[in-house]
Amino acid sequence: MSRFAYVNGRYLPMRNAMVHIEDRGYQFADGVYEVCEVRGGRLIDERRHLARLQRSLGELGIRLPMSLAALGIVLREVIAKNRIGYGIVYLQITRGVARRDHAFPPPEVPPSVVVTARSLNRARNEALAAKGIAVVSVPDNRWGRVDIKTIGLLPNVLARQAAIEQGAREAWFVEKDGTVTEGASTNAWIVTEAGTVVTRPPDHAILRGITRTVLFEAIKAQGLAIEERPFTLEEAYAAREAFVTAASQIVLPVVRIDGRTIGDGGPGPVATALRREFHRYVEMG
Ligand code: PLP
Repeated sequence: MSRFAYVNGRYLPMRNAMVHIEDRGYQFADGVYEVCEVRGGRLIDERRHLARLQRSLGELGIRLPMSLAALGIVLREVIAKNRIGYGIVYLQITRGVARRDHAFPPPEVPPSVVVTARSLNRARNEALAAKGIAVVSVPDNRWGRVDIKTIGLLPNVLARQAAIEQGAREAWFVEKDGTVTEGASTNAWIVTEAGTVVTRPPDHAILRGITRTVLFEAIKAQGLAIEERPFTLEEAYAAREAFVTAASQIVLPVVRIDGRTIGDGGPGPVATALRREFHRYVEMG
């Protein structure tokens, strides 16, 4: 089936979906993005994702190119045109097209908007979750505002590639003080020996994941203790469980970190239950 993208006001077949070579996204990574889950053909947690998008744009001084309601319509249209039942929709907004110059272009330059969507293989994702994934640690060498969801993802790209080359699926960034910040494209969690669920507070050192936010509700509903605090890599090695969260994967158990077995080496009961219960707490579009 042919795929469609939305590019600056038009729905185009993928092969014709192009942006200008002087788009500031292409030249400076001067833009932001969102990835939302699509399930049963419905957009998950649109309100939260668009609120975070608006915040990211605001932090960078990029104007919102259309209302959030209009953006929501575009997202749904791209989902429908691509007949996505289970998958993701991707939205990117850059500071627009202008002659290459580090300084911002004049305010009348319109931001560029691109939306794409693709199906994910549900059986493959469930099989992955049933097995658990391996993670490797890498030094966190990113800039100081990773709380903004920018398209400048080179350290994340290199980290993920390093993970794959070591036979793992995800990389965890580690600060100089030995604490884990987050994954290359996920938030990082552990469950301590005492059964407390631990994840880093949403300061400037992590992206405040929407999955992370919603998962708090699921954790509270399960009656589990939760602590928002930094945890060290050493603590993660000794944890009863570990897992990662992201809109595209929900909750994915981590069974190995840097080659060390976590817990009993299989997906733990907390991660498994949270993955099962997660969608009771989302907002369905
Ligand atoms: N952290 C990083 C660096 C990410 O790129 C992502 C998702 O892309 C997340 C965390 C998880 O965010 P969300 O749950 O909103 O998908």
